[in-house]
Amino acid sequence: MIWAKEETLPRVEIESIQLKRLKETVHYIYDRVEPYRRKMEEAGIKPDDIQSLDDLKEMPFTYKADFRDNYPMGLFAVDKKELVRFHASSGTTGKPTVVGYTRKDLDVWLNNVARIACMGGATPNDVAQIAFGYGTFTGALGLHGGLEKLGASVIPMSSGNTKKQIMFMQDIGTTLLVATPSYALHLGEEIRARGLDPSKDLRVHIGLFGGEGMTEPMRDEMHKVWGEQFFCTQNYGMSELCGPGVAGECEELCGMHINEDWFIPEVINPETGEVLPPGERGELVVTCLGKEAIPLIRYRTGDLTRLFYEPCKCGRTTARMENLSGRADDMLVIRGVNVFPTQIEEVLLQIQEIGPHYEILVERKNRLDVMTITVELVDDRLLDSYAQLSELEQKIKKGLKAQLGLATHIKLVAPYSLQRFEGKAKRVTDLRKDGL
Ligand SMILES: [Zn+2]
Repeated sequence: MIWAKEETLPRVEIESIQLKRLKETVHYIYDRVEPYRRKMEEAGIKPDDIQSLDDLKEMPFTYKADFRDNYPMGLFAVDKKELVRFHASSGTTGKPTVVGYTRKDLDVWLNNVARIACMGGATPNDVAQIAFGYGTFTGALGLHGGLEKLGASVIPMSSGNTKKQIMFMQDIGTTLLVATPSYALHLGEEIRARGLDPSKDLRVHIGLFGGEGMTEPMRDEMHKVWGEQFFCTQNYGMSELCGPGVAGECEELCGMHINEDWFIPEVINPETGEVLPPGERGELVVTCLGKEAIPLIRYRTGDLTRLFYEPCKCGRTTARMENLSGRADDMLVIRGVNVFPTQIEEVLLQIQEIGPHYEILVERKNRLDVMTITVELVDDRLLDSYAQLSELEQKIKKGLKAQLGLATHIKLVAPYSLQRFEGKAKRVTDLRKDGL
């Protein structure tokens, strides 16, 4: 099912909507947002200079730091009385990023989320259990509102309380789960640990995942735990852009369709800022169109991806972004080599004897970076055989060496001994101190 006709327009029509909205947005931001007007003046650009989509590349970037520098509401284009909602990012250090919505913003946002839920297979008949934490985080209320708009019925469970999650799934007959992939996996394991088979004893058959990326081996792992009938997709967004609702995977699972009538995506070289041609990997930069409360031009997301413009078999013509290959700031530099945690995950998940949970510890010993990866065994009987354990350790090291070009230390531990997360999993601990 396709939610909106804008998802299937010929390229030229999508671009004509984008250009009209871009011109309006540039005027709007110049007139109403002082920090933006200053940036444009410094770059020597007037709103009327933007006459084609190609002219967008002349506009200055917006950074996460702009939100910090103008905290809490310096990037807002409307007065507080015009707002109907605030959200804020979960800033782990310092002040959070505060965002706001007018009535129209909320409407556009939730319609975009409804499109994405629809792409992921949701229908008005679904009973959707939201296992994201509520509060100022955009994920829970975003999916909540979008799924209601679609006509599904929503259970606002929030995260945690696994026992109650399972009880509601059984008693109300939940068909759709909204969660982070790591929590969905944990929940599935807990269901199995209670002697239930999700494919027979529950009705959950759709997963709408967000909050963190999902690699393909992780998706396979999801099927092992939840059953082959379980169809799970990931979607993309961030609070600065609106929340979820920017892009989502369709049934073809070939990247995430971008709601291009409301967002213009670009991929740039993160070092030089130069726009890269379709198909090349770089940092995703997003311009929000038609937003009233916080219009954003060329926002540097920090996420690495590629863009594809070929129409999809599902019937949608909107551009697709490749599932994330990491965040520019998640990248670890180990002895001069760039390493993404997702690369490590891909290797680990291909090895049968170990489970999908892992932790990465980076330390500096004798001036050298040392990376230790702790992984859970699937079967703890292996811990009794030194020879088998050592053989498995070598196999993992070899796989990682081939993928990363780096030697690693491996620690194998008993099943269920690593910490489980209800939200975004914290997998990396970096203990390196400058200069030691
Ligand atoms: Zn598609």
